[in-house]
Amino acid sequence: MAISFLPTMMADAVTDISPTLLKQKGIRLLMLDFDNTLVPYTTSVPTVAVSDWLKAMIQSEIEVCVVSNSRKERVQIFCREYGLHCITHAKKPFPKGIRQCLQEYGFTPSECALAGDQIYTDTLGANAQGVHSILVKAIHNHNIWLKLRHVAELPWIGLASKRRIHS
Ligand SMILES: [Mg+2]
Repeated sequence: MAISFLPTMMADAVTDISPTLLKQKGIRLLMLDFDNTLVPYTTSVPTVAVSDWLKAMIQSEIEVCVVSNSRKERVQIFCREYGLHCITHAKKPFPKGIRQCLQEYGFTPSECALAGDQIYTDTLGANAQGVHSILVKAIHNHNIWLKLRHVAELPWIGLASKRRIHS
């Protein structure tokens, strides 16, 4: 599959992604990055908006699965609270976790999307597997390394500017 740094869609936050939008695109499974997509690195408590959005997405016809590179237990604890399936140690942008998710649910890649905040892991990894990539803005880049990484993403974000979805 192609190497591409261009997200299929861009959103300000996961809360801008609706089941209706996903259904329109033929998407049946939403994979979710964890850190800086659902919660910042500094807390495991989501905002009320993210929590409500997540509950609504879980109750919709769309399947939801967290696919995170994290090795920390906080991801599993969070997902348990929401009754969410989760795959950790996903190794994005490499195929491991995304392919595992595709196999477990049995959907074709084009029936799936992955929403995440990082181009060089989430977007690249999803694109490589033929999964729709939805780039969301990082909740909080709290250190210099995260800020610098975002600067390195700006050319791709500029190129994909017409792919922005609005809530
Ligand atoms: Mg992330």
